Amino acid sequence: MNLNQQDKLKNGHILPLMESFLSIQGEGYFAGKSSYFLRIGGCDVGCHWCDVKESWDPKIHPLTEVDKIIKEVQKNSVDIVVITGGEPLMWNLDYLCHRLNELNFKIHLETSGAYNLSGKFDWICLSPKKTLKPIKEVQDLANELKVIISNKNDFKWAQLQSKKVKKSCKLFLQPEWSKKQEILPEIVNFVSNNIQWSISLQTHKYMNLP
Ligand code: SF4
Repeated sequence: MNLNQQDKLKNGHILPLMESFLSIQGEGYFAGKSSYFLRIGGCDVGCHWCDVKESWDPKIHPLTEVDKIIKEVQKNSVDIVVITGGEPLMWNLDYLCHRLNELNFKIHLETSGAYNLSGKFDWICLSPKKTLKPIKEVQDLANELKVIISNKNDFKWAQLQSKKVKKSCKLFLQPEWSKKQEILPEIVNFVSNNIQWSISLQTHKYMNLP
C-alpha cells in the first residue's frame, strides 16, 4: 500500500471491500427486509464457527473508493444499506456513512463491537464475541443485541451481555448454524421462559441467499 492509499484508508475514503450485493436481511429485527450489503474485509475476532473466514485478511480485498461503492449502491432501489464484515469498525466509516446519509439511505451496522465507533448509524446490531469483547461505547448505542448460541454456556454469556445494553435494545438469540439441530430446542426453551428475548434464524441460508 502506498502513502496515498494509507492516507485515504485512514480518512475512510477507501475501504477493503470484499463484496457488495442486494439481498434480503436474513437475521434479527429486520429479517425479511430487502437490503444492500457492503461486506468490508478484515477481522481479527477469530470466532471458530465464523462462516465468512475469507473476510479475515484485509489484504486480499481490493481497496475500493467509497465514491465508487456509493455509485453501486445507488443502482438499487433499497432504503436500507447494511455495513457488515468481517469487522467493519476496524476501519474509518465516517465518510461512507456521511455519503449514504446525504442520499437518505438508512444505515445499519453489524458489528462485534470490539473497536471504537466511527460513522453514524440508524441501527446498530451488536453481536458480541467472547474472543474479543465489545467496548462500552458500542454497547451503549446498540439497538439490537444478537448473541450466537453454540452451547449451553452461551446462555449465561447472553444474559450478561443483555445487562450492558440499553433497556430499549432488542434481544435476539441465534443458533450457531452448524449446531442448530441440537441447540435450537434449548433456545426455544430459554426464550419461552425469558420473554424479553426473541429467536433469530439465518433465514437467508434457508432461502439460498447470500
Ligand atoms: Fe467471523 Fe464476525 Fe466472528 Fe469476525 S466477528 S470472526 S467476521 S463471525
